[in-house]
Amino acid sequence: MHNVDLQTDFTDPEYRHALDHVDVEYSPDSLFEGMTFNTKEEVQHVLNAYHIKKGLYYRVEKSSPTLIVARCVNSTCDWRCRAAFITKSQKWELRKLSGEHSCSSPIITQDHVNLGYVYISKSILPLVESDPSISIPTIIAHIKSAEGYTISYRKAWMAKQKAIEDLHGNWEQSYHDLPKLLSAMSGFLNGFVVEKQTRPLYNQQGEMVHHYVQFHRVFWTFKPCIDGFKYCKPIVQVDGTFLYGKYKGTLLVAVAQDGNNKIFPIAFAIVEGETAEAWFFFLHYLKRHVCPQDGLCLISDRHESIKNAYARQGSGWTPENSVHVFCIRHIAQNFMRHFKNTERKKLIINMGMYLASLITLICFTIFQHY
Ligand SMILES: [Zn+2]
Repeated sequence: MHNVDLQTDFTDPEYRHALDHVDVEYSPDSLFEGMTFNTKEEVQHVLNAYHIKKGLYYRVEKSSPTLIVARCVNSTCDWRCRAAFITKSQKWELRKLSGEHSCSSPIITQDHVNLGYVYISKSILPLVESDPSISIPTIIAHIKSAEGYTISYRKAWMAKQKAIEDLHGNWEQSYHDLPKLLSAMSGFLNGFVVEKQTRPLYNQQGEMVHHYVQFHRVFWTFKPCIDGFKYCKPIVQVDGTFLYGKYKGTLLVAVAQDGNNKIFPIAFAIVEGETAEAWFFFLHYLKRHVCPQDGLCLISDRHESIKNAYARQGSGWTPENSVHVFCIRHIAQNFMRHFKNTERKKLIINMGMYLASLITLICFTIFQHY
């Protein structure tokens, strides 16, 4: 189910920081021989900025880890440029600059070929930092006013992804950092509970990759959740919801209700999906860490895997210490699917609510007994 990219490395001290972006602010009016740059990316950025500003185009003829050769796209123009990495100074240098752009090529397109998404991502970095949910049309409008070109939706979208990655790290790095973050939380958040499961990582040839494990499941809860639950009604509602980001998976949540009928979240987990194994993982740790007390009422939908996990030995939940009931909303939804009658659906819900209050009352009575 999981993408192989979900690897979590607990052992590798190598740390490729995602924030190796360039801090080039200036767009030069002129280029000159001997001009120096810290990185190759910086050379490209300056060449781009220069050409975008002048409304001219260049293309890269040669590119290697130590060399960039660029020329005008116009074959009748003799503008050439050569930048190389100098080992002695550990800097990039503009070594050769020949010819002037004789082409006064008027801009005929709305977009500029040298206005790439990497270049744009640097320009919009502060915008994305202050508002990560900034819309793509806003980015397009910003580039239009800053650079004078109307870029495509796709380019703006890619630039935004790149900016988010530069600011917050990429997905792979985030998974990589997860164990460190969780152990930092365990160390500094008193009473924080985390249970994680990993599994062996296999490469595309099916061989096991040593020293690496893959993220599988994680369960967590906070001390206030555990402490607060003691003052809630003795009911626990569990449900799952799909995650629809880059990586799939399911978020499982357990909630209780306080005396004012307000929802009180008590435990969370990220799992591969609503499988019996995943529910067992969640229910087991939920019982162990958050609600070890007897006389609880567990409410869920009628998912076969929850019933399965609840009944399995070792889940911590038994008919002796709890009751497992089904959420009336799900029952009513199923009823609607079969009978399509809104009036009767309301009756079902009311009936369920009445029964639920009764059950709560019974549970509460049992609970108070202990
Ligand atoms: Zn030219």
